[in-house]
Amino acid sequence: VEFLWVGNHPGIDLCNTVPVVRGGAVDLLADPEALDRWLRLSGWLRRDPTEPAGIATLAWVHRLRAALSEALVAGADRPVRLHAVNDALQDRARPVVTADGRIDLLGDDAQAQLRLDLTGLAAGALALDPARVRRCAGAHCVLVFFDTSRSGTRRWHDMATCGNRAKAATHHARTTA
Ligand SMILES: [Zn+2]
Repeated sequence: VEFLWVGNHPGIDLCNTVPVVRGGAVDLLADPEALDRWLRLSGWLRRDPTEPAGIATLAWVHRLRAALSEALVAGADRPVRLHAVNDALQDRARPVVTADGRIDLLGDDAQAQLRLDLTGLAAGALALDPARVRRCAGAHCVLVFFDTSRSGTRRWHDMATCGNRAKAATHHARTTA
């Protein structure tokens, strides 16, 4: 299974790295190399990491991913779910002021910097309109997407797979009823 880019935001697609394949959850970020590959392909990092992701950073990403996917689709419960996200984030960083007068955070080392950049990614996903961030309505699908359709009524992560399956199931139910 290759990485999925169906969420319309890399922070959402980070949550889409544990898809259900033939009835079982598959972790596409099973090792640090996979995380590095995902980061490169996501196009998210503004600066190239100075070293590959370590095993501790991978474990950190797994915690963040689990908490973030709950928070993104939690609706009114989002503030509560955010506690889990912020618990996962615990890290060391120092504030710096930038040339244009903003406050930025710098990681203590390359791994902390990588985690900070991923924290920015999570924040970016949480900044999207929550009413348009939803989980696919497919029966066994766990994928999340940001609905960029004009009507804002998109239900499936992909029309060709989950959408068609739902239509076929409805048709089957109708014809067998
Ligand atoms: Zn789906």
